[in-house]
Amino acid sequence: MNFEDFSISTNVKKAIKDMGFEAPSPIQEKVIPEIAEGHDVIGQAQTGTGKTAAFGIPLVDKVTNDKHVQAIILTPTRELAIQVSGELQKLSQHMNVRTLPVYGGQSIGHQIKALKRGVDIVVGTPGRVLDHLRRGTLKLQNVHTVIMDEADEMLDMGFIEDIESILKQVNRDRQTLLFSATMPFPIRKLSNKYMQKPKHISI
Ligand code: AMP
Repeated sequence: MNFEDFSISTNVKKAIKDMGFEAPSPIQEKVIPEIAEGHDVIGQAQTGTGKTAAFGIPLVDKVTNDKHVQAIILTPTRELAIQVSGELQKLSQHMNVRTLPVYGGQSIGHQIKALKRGVDIVVGTPGRVLDHLRRGTLKLQNVHTVIMDEADEMLDMGFIEDIESILKQVNRDRQTLLFSATMPFPIRKLSNKYMQKPKHISI
């Protein structure tokens, strides 16, 4: 299989080429078409498999440059938030899409200023995302996609309640994607409650 086989914009294909990706990884082959068709997806994959681009490619293809937050990606750590945000910025390098990482430990004022200037994709740790929601500095009205990355790690770090309270604030007709190396019971319960007919893909 080849990246040319996916129905994604030439701008995204060009970025993939610039990043040096030659062919889709197994998780990308399976996940990208399902996400592009609009399905909720549970992807069971370890880090290092190319899971970030598996959700990142169809995501940057879908968002528009309208200065309203359209997608929220939740990550367990600030390091992962920065890493995912960087990968999305590379994938959207030929587009005018703004991605902002928000995490605890960084000045909230700096993040508020950036959010005010207009952001299309937010990548953040659940606690800091909730903080912005409570302050009204992050609004979810235009969010059509929620992605939980390393969901089992977020569970281990005690973020499940924060994640639920974020999910409850997003439009019900959103697309919800969940990536996790393992599927412990609380994560299966979360997916049953907040996802619609998810496609399970494991590699
Ligand atoms: P991840 O599993 O998302 O952390 O990705 C691991 C690494 O593989 C990252 O440095 C990606 O940029 C890289 N990568 C992702 N997809 C591909 C691909 N199709 N070909 C080559 N490298 C890739």
